[in-house]
Amino acid sequence: MSFKNIFCQDRIVNLFQKAIVHDHLAHAYIFAGQEGIGKTLFSKELAKTIFCQHARADACDTCSHCQRITNDNFPDLFFVLPEKNSRTIKIEQLRHLQDVLHVKPLESKYKIAIIQSADKMNEESSNCLLKTLEEPPSHAIIILIVTSLESVRETVRSRCQIIRFFPLSMIVVKDILVNSFHLDEKQAEQLACISNGSIERAALLSSTHALDKKNWLVDRILTLGMNDNLTFSKELLDKWNIQDLEILEEKRSQVKELILSFLLYYRDLLICKIQSGMPVYHTNWRNTLTSKCQVLSEEVLFRIIQVIKTSLEQLDHNANIALLLENMITKILRLQFGDRTV
Ligand SMILES: [Zn+2]
Repeated sequence: MSFKNIFCQDRIVNLFQKAIVHDHLAHAYIFAGQEGIGKTLFSKELAKTIFCQHARADACDTCSHCQRITNDNFPDLFFVLPEKNSRTIKIEQLRHLQDVLHVKPLESKYKIAIIQSADKMNEESSNCLLKTLEEPPSHAIIILIVTSLESVRETVRSRCQIIRFFPLSMIVVKDILVNSFHLDEKQAEQLACISNGSIERAALLSSTHALDKKNWLVDRILTLGMNDNLTFSKELLDKWNIQDLEILEEKRSQVKELILSFLLYYRDLLICKIQSGMPVYHTNWRNTLTSKCQVLSEEVLFRIIQVIKTSLEQLDHNANIALLLENMITKILRLQFGDRTV
């Protein structure tokens, strides 16, 4: 891979190509944008272009530096990310990075550190990083990758150049799925619809039978009665295979995907209800959604969507997954069947 394989981020590629050619790279960047739209991939290709032994504005992809970067085995490039089963970047990791960055590069004139999920730094980690950002070694380039800028402390933010990444259009995602992942047109279109502009998400969905699960989910939601909350929660846990607490962190992303499915479903109901003309994700169910939304008021749909959004936030704050789902479903069903006390 090199810049030529980065899709639809021409503005950012051009910006960095100019900075590399004119030797105007900053010491610290924040790459901000929703999950799965290629920020980490881009940062790796950027590092490759900076370290490449041959190229200036793009990596050659064949020299020893490029190949070792592809294999995550280049001594002047570092990745920092939350350790397995941890949801924060610890201060020890930042201290180690600080030490590493202060040693001169081994094979290049730069040392690059890519901090993934940098929004998962706590107060003390942020303070530690701040010290490095205040007086960065002349050879250091630090890239923070975040989904939300608000989660980065202002003192850190103000010392970085901010680069915003935008989601890909549905047509681009569909084309990539057809041409690079060799999916058929219909499947690619469905996945592009529910991927929210993220190739990573679309690829994940295509490999985990997510479409089948989503189809099952929508069919099932349509048949639910008010007292089906516990049965339905159990069905979800079984279907998504959520029992093993040992691998809770891995499950968390799957549960997030599941809750997002609920969000998309009720969002579609709301779109049908207010007849905004916006495209719906569940195109196959358009007629059913249109009749289903007749019995729900806009207010109820807004409140259900709020319940789902709150569950998504709680998922990021160590909530018990099984309880969280059960609670969310109970509230949704109660709202759906006219209980105003939720
Ligand atoms: Zn190269």
